[in-house]
Amino acid sequence: MYQVMSPKAEEFISHEEIVESLAFAKENKNNRALIDQILTKARERKGLSHREAAVLLDCELEDKNQEIYALAEQIKKDFYGNRIVMFAPLYLSNYCINGCEYCPYHAKNKHIARKKLTQEEIVKEVMALQDMGHKRLALEAGEDPVNNPIEYILECIKTIYSIKHKNGAIRRVNVNIAATTVENYQKLKEAGIGTYILFQETYHKESYEKLHPTGPKHDYAYHTEAMDRAMDGGIDDVGLGVLFGLNNYQYDFIGILMHAEHLEAYKGVGPHTISVPRLRRADDIDPDVFDNGISDEIFAKIVACIRIAVPYTGMIVSTRESKACREKVLHLGISQISGASRTSVGGYVEPEPEEENSAQFDVSDNRTLDEVVKWLMEMGYVPSFCTACYREGRTGDRFMFLLKSGQIVNCCHPNALMTLKEYLEDYASEETKKVGEALIDKELDVITNSKVKEKVVDYLANIHKGERDFRF
Ligand code: SF4
Ligand code: SF4
Repeated sequence: MYQVMSPKAEEFISHEEIVESLAFAKENKNNRALIDQILTKARERKGLSHREAAVLLDCELEDKNQEIYALAEQIKKDFYGNRIVMFAPLYLSNYCINGCEYCPYHAKNKHIARKKLTQEEIVKEVMALQDMGHKRLALEAGEDPVNNPIEYILECIKTIYSIKHKNGAIRRVNVNIAATTVENYQKLKEAGIGTYILFQETYHKESYEKLHPTGPKHDYAYHTEAMDRAMDGGIDDVGLGVLFGLNNYQYDFIGILMHAEHLEAYKGVGPHTISVPRLRRADDIDPDVFDNGISDEIFAKIVACIRIAVPYTGMIVSTRESKACREKVLHLGISQISGASRTSVGGYVEPEPEEENSAQFDVSDNRTLDEVVKWLMEMGYVPSFCTACYREGRTGDRFMFLLKSGQIVNCCHPNALMTLKEYLEDYASEETKKVGEALIDKELDVITNSKVKEKVVDYLANIHKGERDFRF
């Protein structure tokens, strides 16, 4: 039975409720009156239920779809302005005991090179990331209690935060590791992580069990209930995601919204981010064997509908997606993107030779961070390296309260401009710098509070003189 407040995975992600919601969306496909009613509710910017969002996702009326896209774009502008937060993944180890059928790190893949970074190698990787200008990382590691125990992950986090190289610093470390115990989540919290990220892959239990035939990840309930344990361990910010392409996309779309509703109802705070990865080609993995691939059009519709359904949740798109596709979805609701990612272990210091093949997936967007930053600015976005909320303790419900009250806008824009200025001073090419300086000048006018604006102008001058790390 469906119960949003239940601690049990099979009750808060009830299969029956998803099937009924799918049927409801189908019955009401192109029901103009209902779609109008849902859009009116969505305009209040308080979100939609999974059922309502499913009706919008299924809609095939061209004019209504245009309304959906326009509303998603407006909500994105209202809550996130034109800022895009930048981050990079850092692969620590590809040892893994799980059998995920869509991932080349699966235990049975014998022709992939297995690697695990030593602390010395981490220092080098992080320095390479700092030299690009990154301030925010997402750590990635396979599940392997012998090779990658929690102590190893904690040691890596400590090392990363300790590295101060030139003007570089990693100011927020997000962590994407396998579902674990409350005790281990407490340890991650104490180590100062930002967001704990765990992708569900698919919410469809039967498919989930088939796709994960071996290893601890096979346990659907343990995996699905991980975010509740992470919050019990004191982690305020959690990041959800499904891997689109593994299962029927409408099913997983409803599933992820139900998960968000559960966290909000049961833990008092919804997910900090939702990621929307799509299945990609990789060693030993042929995406064509999964017949649930989604087109760019459907992908864009999913992004727009998530934006409308959970306006307060950040949305992430990675370099799995091409430049063209990222361009298409940025304005529909994406608030964070990765740039210049290497998806192999040790890939930032030494791009690996083709025959080694230890990447988790093929990257579609291979541009440098400088190119990505310039591209964003030329489209009118402000690339932001801001990590202020986490460092000011504005996490979980405190972050959500600020966001919902609209106050965050007074912090985000100035912080984005100041961290962009740091980037331009320390890492940008001449051409990018020129575009960036002009953008900052123009964007200063967006700040309406004259006192804040005065302060920002002052801080920008100080950054130019060599000082760093100003924030609101
Ligand atoms: Fe291991 Fe994660 Fe890959 Fe599964 S998806 S094989 S758990 S690294
Ligand atoms: Fe994100 Fe907070 Fe910075 Fe805004 S001020 S960009 S919400 S970290």
